[in-house]
Amino acid sequence: MQNPLAKLVPQLLGEYPKQFNELLNKVPIPEGLESTKIRDELWNAYQFSMTCHEGQKRRSGRPYFDHCYQVATSLAEWKMDYRTVMGGLLHDVVEDTDVSIKDLEKRFNEDVARLVDGVTKLGGITFSSRKEQQAGNFMKLLLSVAQDLRVIIIKFADRLHNMKTIKYLPQIKQHRIAIETRDVYAPLAHRLGMARVKWELDDLILKTLHPNSFNEIESKLKATNKQRSKYIHSVIDPVKKELARYNIEAHVYGRPKSHSSIYGKMVRRGKNFEEIYDVYAIRIIVDKIEQCYLTLGVIHQMYSPVQERFKDFVAMPKTNGYQSIHTTIVGPNGQMVEIQIRTREMERTAEIGVAAHWRYKESGTTSADLDSNIKWLRELVEILQSERSDPAEFMHLLKIDLFNDEIFVFTPNGDLIQLPLAATPIDFAFQIHTELGIHCIGAKVNQKVVPLNTKLKNGDIVEIITSKNQHPSLGWLKFVVTSKARNHINKYLRDIRQEESIKLGNEILEKTLRRLKMFGEMKSIKASYEQFGYKSSEALIEAIGNGTITIREIFKKLRPDDEPSLEEPNRDGAKKFIDYARSKARGIKLQGISNIMVQFAKCCNPIPGDDMVGFVTRGRGITVHRSNCRSLPLLSEESDRLMPVEWDVARSDVFKVRIKVVGEDSKGQLKTMTEAISTENSNITSVDLKVRDNIATAYFIIEVRNSRQLERIIKKLTKINGIDYVERTGQ
Ligand code: MN
Repeated sequence: MQNPLAKLVPQLLGEYPKQFNELLNKVPIPEGLESTKIRDELWNAYQFSMTCHEGQKRRSGRPYFDHCYQVATSLAEWKMDYRTVMGGLLHDVVEDTDVSIKDLEKRFNEDVARLVDGVTKLGGITFSSRKEQQAGNFMKLLLSVAQDLRVIIIKFADRLHNMKTIKYLPQIKQHRIAIETRDVYAPLAHRLGMARVKWELDDLILKTLHPNSFNEIESKLKATNKQRSKYIHSVIDPVKKELARYNIEAHVYGRPKSHSSIYGKMVRRGKNFEEIYDVYAIRIIVDKIEQCYLTLGVIHQMYSPVQERFKDFVAMPKTNGYQSIHTTIVGPNGQMVEIQIRTREMERTAEIGVAAHWRYKESGTTSADLDSNIKWLRELVEILQSERSDPAEFMHLLKIDLFNDEIFVFTPNGDLIQLPLAATPIDFAFQIHTELGIHCIGAKVNQKVVPLNTKLKNGDIVEIITSKNQHPSLGWLKFVVTSKARNHINKYLRDIRQEESIKLGNEILEKTLRRLKMFGEMKSIKASYEQFGYKSSEALIEAIGNGTITIREIFKKLRPDDEPSLEEPNRDGAKKFIDYARSKARGIKLQGISNIMVQFAKCCNPIPGDDMVGFVTRGRGITVHRSNCRSLPLLSEESDRLMPVEWDVARSDVFKVRIKVVGEDSKGQLKTMTEAISTENSNITSVDLKVRDNIATAYFIIEVRNSRQLERIIKKLTKINGIDYVERTGQ
């Protein structure tokens, strides 16, 4: 009779569930580490995750823990280190239960907790709701936020299982997840050289988005299976024999190409299944690199190669680290067959890419001939080879910094802010709101107060402390890096200077007049601003204050009897120029700028209420952009061509804006949207609606008076049922 306690406390009495043992057996055991230690830690995570998710169910009806177990199993099969496998077991506990990162730190260790934290943060970013719609940016974002490559790899395991169980989700959700996987995860897997994950995802995407094509390929592959395997044997059996003569131990096998790659060929070449000849590849796996070339020679002796289809990725690896020799030969019956030759190690790299390199630590292999284009990866391996013994160092090296020209930080609410490298809390503050920047007096980074010139790092949580009495100082210009912050600071300083000039001008004028006992002239001098080409008496006073014009000059003009008048040759020309500029850009006032042409930028189309900057284009005057416009140059050498501009509009002026609305395509949706817009007293001047795969994208051009009205409209549209997101776009 077995001890009934054995199952309850297996760590003491030794009876683990079968499922746990299966996972444990797949986890690699690194050199110099007790297998019992790994077993105990893994069991701890296994049990904890199971308890946390107790009672929760997946859409499929299966217990939630199943998902965590499957994710962990994938990670173990990819030969990830046991802590990553633990991270897989625990990846959803913070997101979906009331466990905190702190709890994980206490119960497990910091490393595991950080992995789960990373996965949780990534979960908060969804592709469809983000402003940056481009998949490339989103990919960068994932990598930057993850910081640790293992987080991304856990995310892949997670996504893979979610895609495998996608059929239980509602149609519209299936669609969105599949699109996100297609646009973000599959290309990322490719970049990281995770070929197996990539094609698994590709097939699942095809199955979700084009089920008919998938099923057709599936059934045709099945129907031709026997015939195909017979043919493969007719090619490889003689090869095997020949290789044996050279004492090359080789694993030779043929397999059909993935559904998605067959589908891709059909679409690209406009052919049907029967016309695609190369639906399978033959693979020959050997031990050493020399054997790859020897094998190639043997094959080319037996079958004639198709010259243009020979590729040596061993000598010239692909940028994602992929290595293999590809050759296409003319087989029996004149059929062309692709053959891939590679070593076991290359095979592993080809399957799981970057993840393969975790093995180096355990096996002690030193010959990692990695792609030199992936610098961080090369450095990683170099250091792994020289300092294999220190696990802390090893973990540190896995931190990624792929895109080191930009960083991503969080607001206390968890919103993501993208900044250039070396950005400071001041840059962050201006990025969020001008007022926040202007009154910024201090900052907390990750809950600690820091100096304002602190360089922010990826993943920092930044909180800005403000004070009404705080204002920008000249010193800030020394460390801010964004043009937005620089502009606002400059503008503020210029405003201050203007204020001071006016004060000073008044003082000079008053004092001079008193001295000359002509104080009575004050009124008429102030009123004469137009004669000197100024817009207001204040502007004239300012000019006196900053020395552009002297009282003496004023007297010369106003009292030609007492003083001879001065020549003012360009006055008329300049005035015409200003009038011309005004007509070009209605509603714009430029500070300290008069004789320059002004135009609205088409890319961002500013409206009153927007923060704007002018950009001095070479030879074409000033173009006014929204200050957050992406087409503004961010390079510091260009930033001196930016200048502050202000709105100067009448209440009745209206401006055209283009907005994009994306959502579920349903009956009456367009009517609901147009109603929402018109109840905010805005005219719609054009609508453009496109529907694809049940997703509707509408572009409206509407007339608004200012950004507040636009915000109200966007808010209203966003609240409509079935609308995914609304954004303002350029023209
Ligand atoms: Mn998950």
